[in-house]
Amino acid sequence: MKHRAAARRPCVLVIGGTDSSGGAGLTRDARTLALLGIETNCAVTAVTAQSDRRVASVHHVAPSVIREQIETAFEAHRPDAIKIGMLGNRASVEAVDEALQARGGAEPLVLDPVLMSSSGGVLLDAEGRRALAERLLPRSTLVTPNLPEAAHLLGEALAEDEEALLAQARRILGLGTGAVLVKGGHAEGDEAADWLVVRDRPPERLVAPRVRARLRGTGCALASAIAGELARGAGLPDACRRAKALVLAELRAVAHDD
Ligand code: PLP
Repeated sequence: MKHRAAARRPCVLVIGGTDSSGGAGLTRDARTLALLGIETNCAVTAVTAQSDRRVASVHHVAPSVIREQIETAFEAHRPDAIKIGMLGNRASVEAVDEALQARGGAEPLVLDPVLMSSSGGVLLDAEGRRALAERLLPRSTLVTPNLPEAAHLLGEALAEDEEALLAQARRILGLGTGAVLVKGGHAEGDEAADWLVVRDRPPERLVAPRVRARLRGTGCALASAIAGELARGAGLPDACRRAKALVLAELRAVAHDD
């Protein structure tokens, strides 16, 4: 019997932290990408001990080990897209930047600028935030801040309405990324509206009904799903729309009425 060589499945390299509670971080990324039938390889930047209520400790992985993980991930299975989540500090940001400079090429890069956990723990310190904006943001295809992250990236106050949010997205675009998806999930109202701003195109408003649910790691899942869609060849607006639909389905599955 003849066997056909198995088609190579698309692969996303996920770079970020672990979350011992399993809600967010790399396990969430891998789970999301598995749902889409995408392979993952990974580079761990930080190990966190956390629950839904607190971040108990953060252990930063040595920069040389971060670089080696990225190098060997490329050797093992060249990724079709890259997703970056929690980095922790400046040294990790620099290690990722150096490794991608050495190994990375044209693959799309989705940068989720993870700054804090929803329980309030700091996941990227102030120097790390500056390094992220200077070094990784300009090499990203898409950056996916929520409202507080957008304000922090710019050193500005929280946007109070959609007009202000859109203006912030445009200013983040000015920092050198290819596109910005600002997530309005932290705002009030019946809709969760995001804005996708891509250079030289009119901005697109992506809306979903607001779902009352407590689910951690939705930012990780969204950015991973976008990277997965890009890895299999989707254009950016389609990738964002499909990823948002996937997260909405997950939220609906755990929704509550109160
Ligand atoms: N912990 C890790 C390791 C993460 O990567 C992230 C988000 O990317 C979080 C926590 C934050 O998740 P949440 O906002 O759901 O607490």
